[in-house]
Amino acid sequence: METVKLNNHVEMPILGFGVYQISLSDTKRCVMDALETGYRLIDTAQYYGNEAGVGEAVTASGIPRNKIFITTKIQSNRNVTGLIDASLEKLRTDYIDLLLIHWVMGNDLATYRVMEESVKQGKVRAIGLSNFYGRDFDNIINHCEIMPAVNQLETHVFYQNRDLRALYKKNGTYLEAWAPFGEGKANMFKNPILAGIAREHNRTVAQVILRFLIQSDIIVIPKSTHKERMVENINVFDFSLCEEDMRKIEALDKNESLFGWY
Ligand code: NDP
Repeated sequence: METVKLNNHVEMPILGFGVYQISLSDTKRCVMDALETGYRLIDTAQYYGNEAGVGEAVTASGIPRNKIFITTKIQSNRNVTGLIDASLEKLRTDYIDLLLIHWVMGNDLATYRVMEESVKQGKVRAIGLSNFYGRDFDNIINHCEIMPAVNQLETHVFYQNRDLRALYKKNGTYLEAWAPFGEGKANMFKNPILAGIAREHNRTVAQVILRFLIQSDIIVIPKSTHKERMVENINVFDFSLCEEDMRKIEALDKNESLFGWY
């Protein structure tokens, strides 16, 4: 698995497995399938209600803990230390690889400071943000001690966040794409440009999408409950898109959310 080096030198797989909207009862099976397929980054959140399933799968897999990278996200700004400890317990681990504030909740700088403390205490290896834009993002980077290692944002071929990527490069914050397939909205899997490129490479549209994002230096965490799709989605490191393919896909950018959350 290819990795990226975060701004504190922690290595993180560039492709992982997202578990949003997977029920708690199905999470253990899905994460075990993903680990068996070769995924080593699992992206969960307190909000998803399935951290316990991730913890069970990681333990049951028999894979050494230090070979698996676990991301989780905090959903509230109250008793942040208690929240971190609760995640550690559910995930059955004594450290979290990457901890994010899930979205802007108010008091975010205070929350972030507790997260900084948790890094010093060894409970967390890297910290960052999710769904932080504009002034909310600036408020953290202008006052923090530890720069956010990532900002996890809606990012896909129709919403590429190119300007933000350039901005983040300055302080070493990685862009991590949530919903790299836009959850299939806007007919993404049937887009004729993507389908044409996929045909040329004898690949699927999903693989072309992930390859495009990875080649753009974006961390991706596609979700699937189907093992054959998990296999499809991880097999994107043995081909590459040429400059012309990249330009064609860059031209699909509408710079607009498919979810209307932001
Ligand atoms: P994705 O863009 O990853 O799309 C998932 C959908 O695509 C599912 O319906 C899945 O179906 C389908 N799919 C997956 N692979 C294929 C394939 N090869 N061919 C066809 N269809 C496919 O959506 P998510 O919202 O799940 O985003 C990914 C992850 O990002 C989340 O799981 C979560 O970890 C994170 N996230 C973070 C957010 C945040 O606010 N920080 C918000 C949203 C997501 P099926 O499962 O049936 O195979």
